Amino acid sequence: MTITQKLTYLQKHHFGKWLKARQEVENEISNQQSLFCICGRLATGFHEMNCRKFQNKVTSETIKRLKHLLTITKGE
Ligand SMILES: [Zn+2]
Repeated sequence: MTITQKLTYLQKHHFGKWLKARQEVENEISNQQSLFCICGRLATGFHEMNCRKFQNKVTSETIKRLKHLLTITKGE
């Protein structure tokens, strides 16, 4: 499964859990960052909301955390 397929699956079948976990991960990563975002720019809440790198990290971390819900995996 690709990241996109995993994302689609989780949003479709576990939307509530997905939202909750994603929010948690976003808060955690946001708290771990110091003054600067992982992309090197100043980490304001507004920036994080719009930062592709930050959002991608949150998404991939959330998928990792919910991977026990991905029961349709084959091979991978
Ligand atoms: Zn950023």
